[in-house]
Amino acid sequence: MVVVMASSLTVTNTLSSPKLKTLYRKLSIPIPTPLSSRLLFNPKTLSSPSLSLNRTSHRHRSFAARAESQNGAEPPSHYDFDLFTIGAGSGGVRASRFAANFGASVAVCELPFSAISSETTGGVGGTCVLRGCVPKKLMVYASHYSYEFEESHGFGWKYDVEPKHDWSTLMANKNAELQRLTGIYKNILNNAGVTLIEGRGKIVDPHTVDVDGKLYSARHILVSVGGRPFIPEIPGSEYVIDSDAALDLPSKPEKIAIVGGGYIALEFAGIFNGLTTTVHVFIRQKKVLRGFDEEIRDFAAEQMSLRGIEFHTEESPQAIIKSSDGSLSLKTNKGTAEGFSHIMFATGRRPNTKNLGLETVGVKMTKNGAIEVDEYSRTSVPSIWAVGDVTDRVNLTPVALMEGGALAKTLFQNEPTKPDYRAIPSAVFSQPPIGQVGLTEEQVILFLGILSTVEIAFQ
Ligand SMILES: Cc1cc2nc3c(=O)[nH]c(=O)nc-3n(C[C@H](O)[C@H](O)[C@H](O)COP(=O)(O)OP(=O)(O)OC[C@H]3O[C@@H](n4cnc5c(N)ncnc54)[C@H](O)[C@@H]3O)c2cc1C
Repeated sequence: MVVVMASSLTVTNTLSSPKLKTLYRKLSIPIPTPLSSRLLFNPKTLSSPSLSLNRTSHRHRSFAARAESQNGAEPPSHYDFDLFTIGAGSGGVRASRFAANFGASVAVCELPFSAISSETTGGVGGTCVLRGCVPKKLMVYASHYSYEFEESHGFGWKYDVEPKHDWSTLMANKNAELQRLTGIYKNILNNAGVTLIEGRGKIVDPHTVDVDGKLYSARHILVSVGGRPFIPEIPGSEYVIDSDAALDLPSKPEKIAIVGGGYIALEFAGIFNGLTTTVHVFIRQKKVLRGFDEEIRDFAAEQMSLRGIEFHTEESPQAIIKSSDGSLSLKTNKGTAEGFSHIMFATGRRPNTKNLGLETVGVKMTKNGAIEVDEYSRTSVPSIWAVGDVTDRVNLTPVALMEGGALAKTLFQNEPTKPDYRAIPSAVFSQPPIGQVGLTEEQVILFLGILSTVEIAFQ
């Protein structure tokens, strides 16, 4: 109902605050602007009119042909591959596999496997499989048992000795599972006929990728290199761990400070709390989970506090101090909290666009280093495309998969396909877990307020 009413409105540019833009994007409201009318709004979309595609006139025109003509120069008559993908994470694997299934010759390069990501390490499967969704969920499962053991007494279970947790068994089994999964992803690519090249990809020109000194030419290049944890540089930040390290610690933290109030921070708070670590969470804002429904934000924090997690609100980290006994203190704007065995920062992620050759070939990026793309995931260089977290649109695995799948259709099935960002469901594996889809109550109220204002203005 709300969407239908919205799409028949003329909304002026004065209604384009960041808050409203998010709302419009969620609702997919057309926003007329002086340059273009009735575009589906996406704040991180390349706005250059020359790059926007006219769906009606080019609906079935081949993008391969467009890439060549827009590029100015005639491309070489033969390339090593139709598609060369840099990065075999969620988006890259999906795009490569689908493209190969559509008949394209495809290669993908990926860094060597490691539990911890760096400029030189990664692994087939990418963040979600190796350093995100999967290992995190295994740790969430591990952490649940403590509550279940506790509750089981009420259901009549008796044990002579209280169960003990062995950290090294958990880590060994988690790592074995990651090895199994990276193997499965390699098989998926292999079975689809995709050539997998181990090494670091770097773009040399609009049709050439260098992988550790070897050059490969391609009609299209896809950049799907994802992102990595970002830790602000403050004194003592070298003592801090990020989410990669938190998933691969040699021993269980005794007492951890987690800085950040987003979903990753809360998930790790629940994990360590369930595994009997003392957990303190430091957040800059008043509440956790910005962007979620207010009631849910309050409820999540309340329930987690009841389980013993201590929240420190409106506290910004200023320094980390290491004592002679090895323990860590966190200095914030409000004071210093001491005695931590670990301090984890879950303070966001940054796209992996450094030293990728993007500036050299003229691929436009935002100030955060995210690659700018149009609605079809095309960058400012017509033969280069980008999907997933590196574009910083909606940084979730199913979204990277959707973007990768849409791109393969666009390029190799002669079916220009835009990813659809409406009503993306998301889950937070905090304890209790949270799921959300569509607008929050606050957004609906805000939106209805705008509607009535606009209606009054037009009466
Ligand atoms: C702790 C954590 C928990 C998460 N939990 C969830 C969740 O529950 N649900 C969810 O939907 N999302 C979750 N995410 C987000 C999800 O992991 C990402 O959105 C998703 O992995 C993005 O996929 P991608 O293909 O863009 O990038 P990635 O999966 O990061 O893949 C990029 C790949 O590119 C490789 N690479 C980088 N540079 C180069 C180069 N120069 N040459 C070759 N290869 C390169 C990297 O090694 C990597 O394998 C989580 C993330 C984290 C960190």
